Order: sequence, then C-alpha cells, then structure tokens
Amino acid sequence: MAHERYFQDRLQGLKDEGNYRVFTDLMRRRGAFPQATRFTGAQTGEVTVWCSNDYLGMGQHPSVLTAMHEALDTCGAGAGGTRNISGTTHHHVLLERELADLHGKEAALLFTSGYVSNWAALGTLASEIPGCIVFSDSLNHASMIEGIRHSRAQKVIWKHNDLADLEAKLAAAPANAPKLIAFESVYSMDGDIAPIKEICDLADRFGAMTYLDEVHAVGMYGPRGGGIAEREGLMHRLTVIEGTLGKAFGVVGGYIAASAALCDFVRSFASGFIFTTALPPAVAAGAAASVRHLKSSDEERRGQHANVARLRARLDAAGIPHIDNPSHIIPVIVGDPMKCKYISDLLLDAFGIYIQPINYPTVPKGTERLRITPSPVHSEADIDALVEALGQLWNQCKLARQPLAAQ
Ligand SMILES: *Cc1c(COP(=O)(O)O)cnc(C)c1O
Repeated sequence: MAHERYFQDRLQGLKDEGNYRVFTDLMRRRGAFPQATRFTGAQTGEVTVWCSNDYLGMGQHPSVLTAMHEALDTCGAGAGGTRNISGTTHHHVLLERELADLHGKEAALLFTSGYVSNWAALGTLASEIPGCIVFSDSLNHASMIEGIRHSRAQKVIWKHNDLADLEAKLAAAPANAPKLIAFESVYSMDGDIAPIKEICDLADRFGAMTYLDEVHAVGMYGPRGGGIAEREGLMHRLTVIEGTLGKAFGVVGGYIAASAALCDFVRSFASGFIFTTALPPAVAAGAAASVRHLKSSDEERRGQHANVARLRARLDAAGIPHIDNPSHIIPVIVGDPMKCKYISDLLLDAFGIYIQPINYPTVPKGTERLRITPSPVHSEADIDALVEALGQLWNQCKLARQPLAAQ
C-alpha cells in the first residue's frame, strides 16, 4: 500500500500550503439562479452564487431548456458514437453552422469542452505544421499551455499583453519558420483585455497565424455575442477563434472557428477530436439555441453590463479595493491567502454568499482575491447584501480600504 501513503502525503502537502481544494456542493435551481441550495453534510442552506461562469444566466433560459427537452425527447440521451462513427447528429451540424456564422468564418469544429478544443487544436496545429514556432502569452490558460506542450513544437513565451516583447521575440525567430501567436481576449483572473488589433498587425508583419481564445467573451461582447474581436471589427483578421459553450452560453462544449481547410485539417488529424464520443444531441441543440438567442438579444448583455457597473460603483463607495479593468470580471483583492479563504468561508457560512477564493498558484502570491462575476440575474438586493457583507468582513479582518471615491 506504499502508493496510498504517497497519495496521502502529497495531499497533506497541499493542505499545509493552503492549496487543497474543497468543493462547494450546490444544487442550482432553475428559474431561481443565482440562488442555489448548498449541501453541508446532512444539512442544506440557501446561497447566492457570485462566482459562476454562467455569466448571463443562459443555463436556465427558457429557449435553451426547450431546445434541450425537445432534442432529448426526439433523439434520446447520448450521441452513440464518435463524430466519425455514427455520432454526428444533425444537431451537431446545425451548431457548427451557427458558430461559423457567429464568428464570420467558413467553418467551425466542435469539441467536448473548451479545454479539449484548445488542447486538441493547438496540439495538432503546432505538431503537424513542420517547424512551427508557437508564441504564447505568459498568462495563457492551462488548456493552451498543455496543447502547446503536447505538440512538442518550439514555444516562445512573451510577456503578458506586451507588444514590444512579442515583436522582439517574433523578430528574433527565423523569418521563414511558420509561426503561431496564441493568446486570449479577456483574461479570466484580472479581467484585462488583449490588444487584438496590434497583435494582428504584428502577425501580418511577421507572417504569423493567430489563435485567439475568446472563452470569457463569447456571448457577452460584440453586437451578436461574437466576442471582443467582433466588437472591434477584427474577426476576419484572426486565423482561429476558439470559444466555449459552457460559460456565457450556459451549456457545455468547446469549438474553434476558422477556414474550412483549417477546421477540416484539425478534424482529420486531432486525436482529441477523433477518438471521443460526440456531445449529446440535446447539449448541441441547447447550445445552438443559446448562441442563436444571444445573436439577436442584447437584453442579457445590457443587464450584465449594468450590474457590473452598479457593483463597481457600490464597491468604490464602500472603499473596497478591486482591480479596475474593462471587462465584466471584478477581482476584489485581499492580498493574503489565509484571509482570502477566511472571508470566503464566512461569506458562505454567515451570509449565504458564495465566492470561491482564488489563491496561488492560480494568481501570484500577494494578489489573493475574490473573483466576482455579476450577471443580469442578480438583483439590486443581491448587490446590497454582497456589499454590506464585504464591508463587515473588511472591518473584522482589518483590511485596507481605498480612499472614498468622489461621490
Ligand atoms: C474555462 C476556460 C477554458 C476551458 O473551457 P471549458 O469549456 O470550461 O473547458 C479555456 N480557456 C480559458 C481562458 C478558460 O478560462
């Protein structure tokens, strides 16, 4: 049983560092979200969720649920196979068309998650294009890092959102080597946004392909929810746009949108696409309904933006420090791992407010934070209760306040 001992020792190491993860056991209730039931042992309690990536509440939207019910009742539960062997249902085909149209691309290709789409697409492109050099932003998501690593291609990491560093690194690489710049639009932990246009300009100058992860932007930015690149009129300049169906679209799944040849290439060579069961048809139908809805409806986006602005203003008035950024993500900095966890625990146990603490190694030490994601389904009363609770805990933990903002 030496291995059992080993597992326990390693887990103890995580616990000693304060990095051991504990699940919050929730039952989301359709129609009531962001309210949810929390299970603690034999007991249950009510909580308001403030850290969900179901950014727009589409996970309970009637048109999404209706589409899923219909597909479930007509097609049954699972796809019954990989995409190549009996698992392609018409719902997958329709969803890929919907996604290609969303991003103004010739084609789109579905994966079982955003993680898998990054891992498989980057892994395949970087390994199958001979001599490819990948230029990867230093804060890229783990799924991109793993895909690039798996490809065994040469990797050059450039400083986060630093155009001068990217330019210098592109210039230092052999002029004739195939190049791929991999980056995100909205970065999940600080909520900052990449200079997409300028990165595309550099890509043009150095003949590089571009791969943009818009996971935290699809559904939420741009007139049809195509992301930051849509909002800025840049979608046509990106070689690959990658997104998820699991965050703002409220379901599950991932995809790339690109040229027909590129999607066909990945479809034909990516192990992570070929050798796995296709998404359930009901999931594809629900995701397609969500994408379609957010192409024409601006209500959810407007509601989210209004609540983000409202919460920021209330935090400013209370002097609670948060990172000022141009996105919907509000990181409230605690700056101490123990206090961050303590505040999160108290919010949950004493106030029924659920915000997962974000500690090292997800963010640098000293920047431990509560990452708050307001949605259009949070009410003014929810916001009042959150700011009131944070104010009390800030006093209790003797945390620094910002000077009162000018009212
Ligand atoms: C969440 C996330 C992913 C993975 O998407 P899933 O659909 O959750 O697997 C990819 N990239 C970024 C930046 C993410 O935050």
